[in-house]
Amino acid sequence: MELDKMDENDWKYHGEGNKSLVVSNVQHARVLRLLKYSTEDAENSHKTTEQAFRHIQNIVDYSQNVMKPLLGEKFVHNGEAVKLPLDFVRQLSLKVQQERPESRCDKVMDTFSGCALCLPNLTQLSCCCSREHRPPLCIEIKPKCGFLPSSRHVTKEIKHKVCRFCMHQHFKLAHGKWKRLSRYCPLDLFSGNKQRMSLAIKHLIEEPQNNFKIFKGGECIYSCKDDADVLQDVDELAQHLRPYFLPSGSLMNGHQSSKVVLNELIQVIVSALLSSWDPRKTHLSEGRVRCEASLLHRDLLRNTNHCLPKDCVLDKILGTQMLDSLDIEGLNPLFKRVEQHLQDFPKERSSLQIDGPYSQSFLEKIQNCPTEDDGSIEYAVGKGYRPVPRLTSLYTAYRLDQSLEIQPSKPHFTYSVSILDLDPKPYESIPHQSRLDSKIVNHYLRSTLPNN
Ligand code: ATP
Ligand code: MG
Ligand code: ZN
Ligand code: MG
Repeated sequence: MELDKMDENDWKYHGEGNKSLVVSNVQHARVLRLLKYSTEDAENSHKTTEQAFRHIQNIVDYSQNVMKPLLGEKFVHNGEAVKLPLDFVRQLSLKVQQERPESRCDKVMDTFSGCALCLPNLTQLSCCCSREHRPPLCIEIKPKCGFLPSSRHVTKEIKHKVCRFCMHQHFKLAHGKWKRLSRYCPLDLFSGNKQRMSLAIKHLIEEPQNNFKIFKGGECIYSCKDDADVLQDVDELAQHLRPYFLPSGSLMNGHQSSKVVLNELIQVIVSALLSSWDPRKTHLSEGRVRCEASLLHRDLLRNTNHCLPKDCVLDKILGTQMLDSLDIEGLNPLFKRVEQHLQDFPKERSSLQIDGPYSQSFLEKIQNCPTEDDGSIEYAVGKGYRPVPRLTSLYTAYRLDQSLEIQPSKPHFTYSVSILDLDPKPYESIPHQSRLDSKIVNHYLRSTLPNN
């Protein structure tokens, strides 16, 4: 990619989240991830090129020096911060505008700084070992937090019983964010039990919200429609998938084949999520694998031994999430301690590395943080800081590529698994997260347990 010869016609809209907008190159397996800002947020719109570049470099460093060691070399692609010609960025912004979902248009793409993050396009397979030239499939899952907090700072008993995602669903429904509850529960996905995992994925397919997407040859073919009223067209999805999973001469009728095809897809996803070279297992403690809101049959929860293959992607994600041993309720007082300290000693903001840089020594600082609170500012920064995706915005994207078909009736896939969207969360968001947490919990208690 020659940065001085950028042409907007080589790029197209790929997708976006809350913080960034992603465009993909039409020829090369690359994406550019550009920052977005709220139209009301004048302060951010005036980010200089240097500030924006620093911000993106922080994301790269954080992926490289903090998340990679925690999640594993093979899953994390930190990418590269780049400076693009402003003219290109402006043209690109105009070009993609009409493709953007309306629900995301409360924010605009940054066209001032010219900075972006360049990453490999994870919806395309770089090594193409497929004999048949069928486009690769990519499944994106935003799994969310996969365990119940055991922190002694937790004040509401319900948080030890019902997971954050399930409680949040009720809150979102009441506030009009979604029209239907998702039956997905992260604890089912992270359980390591194939039956529970399959149901979790089935629930994601039924109600993808922003937790599930499918790409074929780099194009999104299945995701949440902008209009929350519209039910997902599962049969249309099955049509796309049929050639991957059913032999071409199959006489199976429509409804029957949809079921078979989706079931095959689910099995392939489950095996990719559990795949590992390490024969050891990580055992999950009893109290942490059960969410009372999950609709699964109790026997299924009771009679199984829960473990994950060591070093499979779910084990890595869960292990990293669980570094958050305090919960937001334990974190908020630490934030206050740091805030107070910075009021007294504002210059220490940089030596304490509140806003990075996320160097290797930053990870060491976090890892060497005392286990018990000694009242120090070091503890508050090390622990209260951002080593972990607390509410987890981890995404798991992976591709399934059909390779040598030995037995036509049993499709074989090669796949690679990646984790993306690993930005450090701003330190200042802790008080907001803390307020949101209590709103979600209180709402859940009021709306679902009227007798408590
Ligand atoms: P969130 O609101 O979840 O924090 P975000 O604003 O941080 O999201 P990303 O999740 O990084 O943005 O990117 C938005 C979308 O773009 C992703 O959901 C994914 O579909 C796509 N995407 C991001 N990075 C890549 C990549 N390297 N390859 C392919 N697709 C990508
Ligand atoms: Mg995202
Ligand atoms: Zn749950
Ligand atoms: Mg993000």
